[in-house]
Formats: sequence, structure tokens, C-alpha cells
Amino acid sequence: MSSEICLQDAFQKAGRDFGYSSVRAEFTPFKEFKVRWQRSAGWAEFQVSDYLMDADEVMMEGLARVLFMRIAKGKRSNYPDELRDWMTSQDFVKNKQPVYLRRSRNLSRNCKGRHYDLQDSYERLVQAGLVERDEEAFLSWTSRPNLRRVGYCSVLMKVVAVSSALDDVVVPEFVTEYVLYHELLHLANGLSLDGQAHDEEFRRKERMHPRWKEAEDWLRRLSLNL
Ligand SMILES: [Zn+2]
Repeated sequence: MSSEICLQDAFQKAGRDFGYSSVRAEFTPFKEFKVRWQRSAGWAEFQVSDYLMDADEVMMEGLARVLFMRIAKGKRSNYPDELRDWMTSQDFVKNKQPVYLRRSRNLSRNCKGRHYDLQDSYERLVQAGLVERDEEAFLSWTSRPNLRRVGYCSVLMKVVAVSSALDDVVVPEFVTEYVLYHELLHLANGLSLDGQAHDEEFRRKERMHPRWKEAEDWLRRLSLNL
């Protein structure tokens, strides 16, 4: 059975149980993993991230039920365990990360910048015991030097990016290292639907970086100079 038909079947089956007589679902090549939908009385249409193209029917039906439940109750609930396990497996990252990188136009896809190498910062963080080595993590500079968003992390795809605005001799390297550290903390926390991304525990860990205060001051000054 083709994955499109499998998806369609799974969503129609789940939809019937929630009173939807007309359900369509199709895969869409979004850059970020997501599902979009439109609905009205009795019908619903879904655009599902094509990163799920090779999920099996049980996972797709599980996903469909979670989404129909969300539509009915307006509440987010966790993805079914099978789907979650698969999406956090090594195989998933191995197969999908290259696709994600191709779709990420704003990444240089290189850890070596003009002045700084993110891999060097990474090694220092590992040596200092601040982060655990993650072989699947992909580090890259952004192509555009954004100062509003100096770091970015896709936890699902294990891609961490630092703004090329920091890849500059006038900005000390510990600022890059600190931003990288912040994003790696998100990566280490893993996928989570509940809880705030920057909760107290997160802030506590962030301050374990020996130069967090100086780095924060640098980032504030840089953003003021915009
Ligand atoms: Zn953050």
C-alpha cells in the first residue's frame, strides 16, 4: 500500500469515529515538522509533514486520533508512544536530517565559519563536562547574520545553528560557545510538549557556563546596536 493511501485510510478511519464523513489527508514537504488542518461540519483536510512518509499505519492512525481529539477538545496531548519512539530513533534522525538540512536555506551547513569553528566550541563544552557528546548533532552557522535570533535548535532533527553575526573577530569566541551551549541544552532536554522551554531548571543549567554573565552582556549590547 502506498504511503499516501495508508495516510488517507488512517485519517478517514479515525475521522469516522469523531463524526467526520469526509476526510482528506496528504503529505506536504514542510521544512519543519508539522501538521496543518482545515475543517468544517463533517469534513476535514490535513497536510501532514512528509517526514512521516514511512511511518506505518498504526502510527498514522494514532496521530490522526490525537489530532481529532485536539480538534474536539482544544487540548494538546502527546503523540502515541509508537510514533514518538520512532521519531526519536537513530534511524529517523539518520534518514530525515539530510532532508531537513537541504530544506534549511538559511544554514551554511558547515560548522566552520570565517573566524570560528563551532566544533571547537563543542569540544570545549564536552571537555568541561557541560554537555554530553551527541554523535548525531549537526552544527552549522546560519547564512544570514541575524542578531534577533542568535541561535536555533531543531530537537527533532538534531540540528543546532548559531547566527553568523557572532562569527566575527570583534565578538569573543566565548559568546559563540555560550549560544551553542544554550541550544545544546534544548537538544539534551529532548522533545517535550509540556513545560516551558526556558523554565527555572533550564536557566539554572544555563548559568553553569563559567562566562554566562559576560556572554549575556555581549548579546544584549549586540542587540542594542541593531
Ligand atoms: Zn532557547
